[in-house]
Amino acid sequence: MKLLIVKIAAFVLMTAMFVPAALSAEVVIVEDGEVRAEVILPEDPAEDEQLAADELVEHIEKITGVQLPVVSVDGAADDRTPIRLGAAADEALENMILDKGDSYSSFALVADETGISIRGLNPEGTLFGAYELLEQLGVRWFMPLDVGTVVPENSTAALEYQQTVQVPSMDYRRFQWLRGGGEGAGTWQRRSRTGGSSRSTGRHGIPGGVPGGTEGRQYCLSGDYAPGGIDAVVNHIRENYEPTGEKFYVGMGPNDGGGWCRCDGCRELDGDTWDPLRAEPAMTDRHVWFYNRVLGELEDDYPEMHIVWYVYGPTMWPPENFEPNPRIVHVFAPIDIDRTRGMDNPMSPDRHILRHALDGWAEFDPNEMYYRGYYNNLACSQFPHSHIDRIQNEIPVLHEKGINVMRVEVIKQSWASSPLTPYLASKVWWDVDADVDGLLSDFYEKFFGPAREPMRSYFEDLEAAFRDTPYHTGSSYLYFPIFHQQRRDLLRGHLERAAEHADGEDSVYAERVRMISDAFRRLELFLDLMEARNRHDFESSDDILQEYIELTDEMIDKGWVINRGRGSGGPYFARFFLPSLESGHRRTVEEGDLVKGLPDEWDFLIDPAEIGEIAGYYRAGELGGNWQPLKTSSLSWSDQGLHYYKGKAWYRTQVTIPAEFEGREIYLWFGGVDNAAKVWVNGELLGTNREPKHGLPGEAGVFRPFDFLATDAVRLGEENTVSVKVTNDRLAELGTGGIVGPVMFWSPHDEDWTP
Ligand SMILES: [Zn+2]
Repeated sequence: MKLLIVKIAAFVLMTAMFVPAALSAEVVIVEDGEVRAEVILPEDPAEDEQLAADELVEHIEKITGVQLPVVSVDGAADDRTPIRLGAAADEALENMILDKGDSYSSFALVADETGISIRGLNPEGTLFGAYELLEQLGVRWFMPLDVGTVVPENSTAALEYQQTVQVPSMDYRRFQWLRGGGEGAGTWQRRSRTGGSSRSTGRHGIPGGVPGGTEGRQYCLSGDYAPGGIDAVVNHIRENYEPTGEKFYVGMGPNDGGGWCRCDGCRELDGDTWDPLRAEPAMTDRHVWFYNRVLGELEDDYPEMHIVWYVYGPTMWPPENFEPNPRIVHVFAPIDIDRTRGMDNPMSPDRHILRHALDGWAEFDPNEMYYRGYYNNLACSQFPHSHIDRIQNEIPVLHEKGINVMRVEVIKQSWASSPLTPYLASKVWWDVDADVDGLLSDFYEKFFGPAREPMRSYFEDLEAAFRDTPYHTGSSYLYFPIFHQQRRDLLRGHLERAAEHADGEDSVYAERVRMISDAFRRLELFLDLMEARNRHDFESSDDILQEYIELTDEMIDKGWVINRGRGSGGPYFARFFLPSLESGHRRTVEEGDLVKGLPDEWDFLIDPAEIGEIAGYYRAGELGGNWQPLKTSSLSWSDQGLHYYKGKAWYRTQVTIPAEFEGREIYLWFGGVDNAAKVWVNGELLGTNREPKHGLPGEAGVFRPFDFLATDAVRLGEENTVSVKVTNDRLAELGTGGIVGPVMFWSPHDEDWTP
């Protein structure tokens, strides 16, 4: 796993790419438009060796305008300099690699007076060696599509003499785009040298028919409630694998969600270990005990079997009662602890939780540990985002702790919003000592040309926005506090200057600036939209919505923002925000009038012991107690100090309802509550969002709007008390909870209005 790279002249090449052949020691591939070299493949090339040849020919033709011949070993011409690929290159190159390490994707690239030789330990290494050559010639794959690729143009192409051996820091590297990475993403992954020896990197569920526990969803691991679990896995392995001394990996683990077995045996295995994030018993020890037993039973016939499992949620905390077998591979998947910052960032105490867990697990000296994090803003509709801090600071620490596999989940990839994150991550996975600042300078210069300085400012200020903020909520709620007017003006200013600097409307630089600018404009439209929504102005919000959807569709068509998802405006937008916009518009513009919008800030009290109803928190009028102001639609409750609070809480507010609505029906409407609400007006119970007296059947729920008929409960011309009891026991990773949308009284034009 140790990274050892011999780079001769690679850094010089970055700045002085094409010096005349006579002046330095280099292999000339193309000279003044004349072919001087040829690609030599082995007799029966492997797929990746052939691909290496194809990629060299394609890109060198793009650089120089001429096509290199590709021949097999026997057909080599005497008058051309050989570029020997894979098995056509000297086998001694493999020994050069093995001196440094044996990672699957490793390669050696030698350029000297005899020509160029590229050979990997495997064909994939040969392919990656070809990519190294092309990068030394100035080619960059910053993101997929033509707009993301940089190819210099020059009639001469030459490679400095060198003996380069590269062994990746991380043995296996992969982006897992759950909903696709868009057009060209597969090709981009390979050109970014993700890959390595394929292996199980963990899975949900335990194979072999292990019986469910008391709650059904998870397994009974102790066997106390439902016996036979260990035998089931052991038999499954014996039936599916021949006895072997070779190393192999079997993925198994808990299912998503709760539903843990509560039988006496399972509880006893966990003992009194505690998960402080969820305020419930940790579930680690029962798993460690179970896997230890499975590996023990199979030890004689499968001494190198490894179990790969997810360390996340209530299994993230290191075990306290059982020492894990070193052949248990822990896969860190920290979904709910600030996915934006690095774990040494002082602005993110949350992220230090990962460091704490990692250190604890590393103490058991496991053979391997993997990382399966998230490089997107979870449940966000693909708005601009930046992860440089995490990449630069966290990947080297993970590596130092012994993590050798990075498989990172990106649920939604938007290249226009976050082009740097995957690019930089792939580089640092390959080489944890990579010079990130140098890579960034190279990116700004090559990608934006004359607009590089303002674009550097844009990306640096975007990164600072996330890196230096005290706010941490995942999902699009993060954007409300971070992108205040001053920061928006600053970022927009950089982009406007960049547009002026990019030479000519038609240049590729101008196109790239437009792409990044459109992503930012889309975010601004979203913020304007939310601002209008939160002050119950659904007439204005509708105009902005049309513009936002049009822009999103345009960007989807260009491949800049991907995933249309269900509904318009981007996948999570359709789920979390569109319903309240459409519902509010229908009620206050199309079919009725706004009577009174409720304020953003309410009086708030948590109620962990659930005494609120007994104490009468729902009563009308003045009420004592330690109520605190809390914002609702403009800021998540995690970002107001409630952190991961799960449980009951109360909201109260007073509003005067105008007397002019005398004789009309009055409804109380909520834009969204995470996740359950029970509602009173002037002490009178109106119902719950699960069972509203007059609601939206089948639609009520988290982030879905709902109504109550409140005509009989309200007092016109007087002050009215609205009381809401919320329960938050789901969706921990969003960082939201309680009232998450605007609330208003409204009146339909038609007194027989139905939802
Ligand atoms: Zn059990």
